[in-house]
Amino acid sequence: MTSHSVVIAGGGPTGLMLAGELALARIDVLVIERRPNQELSGSRALGITARTIEVFDQRGIADRFLAAGQRAQVTGFAVTRLDISDFPTRHNYGLALRQKHIERLLAEWVTELRVPIRYASEVTGFAQDDDGVSVILSNGEQLRAQYLVGCDGGRSLVRKLAGIDFPGWDPTTSNILAEVEMTVLPPYGVHRTSRGVHAFGRSEYELVDGAIVYKDVGPIGVMVTEETADLDVEPTLDDLKRLLVAACGTDLGVHSPTWISRFTDMSRQASAYRAGRVLLAGDAAHVHSPIGGLGLSTGVQDAVNLGWKLAQVIKQWSPPALLDSYHAERHPVGARVLKVTMAQVALHREDARTLAVRDIIGDLLRMEEPRRYIAGMMSGLDLHYDFGPGHPLLGRRMPDLDLETSDGPSRLYAWLHQARPLLLNIARTQPVELGAWANRVQRVDARCDGDWALPVIGRVEPPAAVLVRPDGYAAWVGDGSDAGLLDALTRWFGPAAP
Ligand SMILES: Cc1cc2nc3c(=O)[nH]c(=O)nc-3n(C[C@H](O)[C@H](O)[C@H](O)COP(=O)(O)OP(=O)(O)OC[C@H]3O[C@@H](n4cnc5c(N)ncnc54)[C@H](O)[C@@H]3O)c2cc1C
Repeated sequence: MTSHSVVIAGGGPTGLMLAGELALARIDVLVIERRPNQELSGSRALGITARTIEVFDQRGIADRFLAAGQRAQVTGFAVTRLDISDFPTRHNYGLALRQKHIERLLAEWVTELRVPIRYASEVTGFAQDDDGVSVILSNGEQLRAQYLVGCDGGRSLVRKLAGIDFPGWDPTTSNILAEVEMTVLPPYGVHRTSRGVHAFGRSEYELVDGAIVYKDVGPIGVMVTEETADLDVEPTLDDLKRLLVAACGTDLGVHSPTWISRFTDMSRQASAYRAGRVLLAGDAAHVHSPIGGLGLSTGVQDAVNLGWKLAQVIKQWSPPALLDSYHAERHPVGARVLKVTMAQVALHREDARTLAVRDIIGDLLRMEEPRRYIAGMMSGLDLHYDFGPGHPLLGRRMPDLDLETSDGPSRLYAWLHQARPLLLNIARTQPVELGAWANRVQRVDARCDGDWALPVIGRVEPPAAVLVRPDGYAAWVGDGSDAGLLDALTRWFGPAAP
């Protein structure tokens, strides 16, 4: 039986990101993916949030995504656009880039890191015991792993077989989404009627000053609300024709679909992200409407939270209990994503009372503080893990500071490219020492003359030292002494090596 430290079920964005994180930590990981290759049929995510761009920057791969996509002020809440260009980050924008390209670039990165991806293969079962997990594949083969991570999407078999509940809310709306040809040119854009929303646009487009400019040729993307739907049956061209006639009075000569799919606003979240040696991440752990565009980014950030923890447990630096912090930190984030998405679904309804609420929310979002608050949430830049009381930076993302070290200038995120933690000593004559953790944690002594400012919060007191986790969050903030440092090193990076 072949064995690996980690088997990942599912090579979508979450599984690929997790594979990259584990490979950087030199963990032997295998990805099992049902699709025959990385090609994605159908349209899914259209972009990533500012925080996800930062996360890619922390690994030195942001430029690949920035070169392939379009930077734009695409952060929004319901129908209101929110400009984040004043947020203190190098990436004060969102990136418009289709999921097929995001997956292609992630797969290229993971391949460079020599992670094997087994396509056209499916996890069909598993059994865990005290020492590991036996994973059964569709061809009957059995693999052995120390941990199995279900990154296998909303219908996750891993979640079901692990017996993890998926409580939440059934769908209230359903939409057919398709890529088609039409003999009649449809009215581009989003149309809201009492029957719901329908929208048309060429699949290929550019963003010019934040506005969509469609190409003149190519297939047409169409979305139509279904009043009733049998969610167990795949939608057909006839369903689409019927809905177009109901919405527009004509089917616009729709023909030759490349694909037809459906999405709903079903909102569910796994009750536990860990069951022993089995973990869940991405859509396997949370599903919701695509409105608001947070799904893919949340999955990628689940992976970045989990990867280094899993690596440390496998290396036996940290006890398995470290993995419980994955649920403790990411479950509330997933719950918030569900809440903020459900609120936006509600605001998209077209009745007079909802329009009144939408108007008032729009007015509020033109005010400075509400805009900052909601934009911080929608961009993912406000994220705060609860590590207890202390400096405002504690539990928050580290800004990508300009540093001056004895070797010359550098950026903080460059020190995170290998997904290794670091202790940043800022302009101290008596730097804080790492002691027995020196082989696990990098020490960087640097001067940092820039402003210390955080999105939403604003300026913060410059700290004397910061312990930064591999996912870029501040695990300890020093005031000039090393009080609390040993506890933080032990909590996050395991007991001191003997
Ligand atoms: C119409 C639509 C629009 C969306 N728009 C946005 C958006 O604008 N922004 C955004 O952030 N998100 C959006 N999303 C959500 C986004 O697509 C998902 O959140 C994202 O794909 C989740 O990634 P994942 O890797 O967790 O899961 P998935 O992308 O679902 O990947 C799971 C993978 O696991 C594989 N798999 C499944 N079962 C098995 C098995 N048993 N064994 C092996 N492999 C298996 C599947 O083939 C798949 O490749 C949208 C989704 C839809 C449907």
